[in-house]
Amino acid sequence: MGELRWNPVFKEWIIVAAHRQARPQLPEDFCPFCPGAPEVPTSDWKVKFLPNKFASLSMDPPNPISKNESLFQVKPAKGQCEIILYTPEHNTTLGKLPVEHIHTLIDFWAERYEIIGSQDFIKYVLIFENRGREIGVSLDHPHGQIYSFGFIPPNIQQEINSGNEYFQETNRCLFCDIVDREIKDGSRTVLENSDIICFVPFYATWPYGVHIYPKRHVQSLLDMNETERKNLAQILKEILLKYDKLFDMPLPYEMIFHQQPSDNKKYPNYHFHIEFYIIHRARNKIKYLGGCEQGGGVFVNPITPEVTAAELRDIKI
Ligand SMILES: [Zn+2]
Ligand SMILES: [Zn+2]
Ligand SMILES: [Zn+2]
Repeated sequence: MGELRWNPVFKEWIIVAAHRQARPQLPEDFCPFCPGAPEVPTSDWKVKFLPNKFASLSMDPPNPISKNESLFQVKPAKGQCEIILYTPEHNTTLGKLPVEHIHTLIDFWAERYEIIGSQDFIKYVLIFENRGREIGVSLDHPHGQIYSFGFIPPNIQQEINSGNEYFQETNRCLFCDIVDREIKDGSRTVLENSDIICFVPFYATWPYGVHIYPKRHVQSLLDMNETERKNLAQILKEILLKYDKLFDMPLPYEMIFHQQPSDNKKYPNYHFHIEFYIIHRARNKIKYLGGCEQGGGVFVNPITPEVTAAELRDIKI
């Protein structure tokens, strides 16, 4: 059972992927992403993609089981899911890889974003990584994922709308203005180099969740030159090393790339960035989404962003 169902109240698509429940329980010591595993026969690669065998979306989806009605709309779960292997090495992390290796990965992400996004049906390519058992990741091998949709995800759409409205009002890029403001202020900046800034947003929802922006107004990785990509690799490495020192443990995180849609339209008021979601607020304390957040959509951040930014900034790596 896999289909897209339309929520007419929130006006957004829900993926029903009941077949994913049938995912096999793998033996404890077997890693399907290590060289030698059936899908990864060799080790002569630096980074690599694999189709996601237990995907929520596929380019050849079954017909929906539910009937399509005007109130309860349903569509095939068409899209593409793939796994990005960061390295053949099992016992390492993205942050521990050399900057050049992360740079290679950034080039590879850009290439996959372009190739997947060039398919007619695909309107949005979402690159992300979930790391850590606390957030449900069962495989430790360093890897990320790419989900590609036939529609623009609501969070991205909201950012596009805000960017467009702000431009109408001011003739400026909303995101460039946020970046400039953070550079001027500095109190929430965690890391910065000539091309990239990493800060805890003024309006952070998760205490330790940073946002990373190219300082130049670019819409995706494809617009970034080699120096900018290398500087992005450097910042990614440093924030990930800081995260693992924060509570002296491999910190679970979600890392999401917000790039412009791949629907062949122009998004001149959009600005590429990376967002981190960190559920921990202390070593043994996880911030769960409560009624206020889940039910009201109002986040309560228990720690001031200026405080968490200073804490992250001061961690020596
Ligand atoms: Zn492995
Ligand atoms: Zn901008
Ligand atoms: Zn965003």
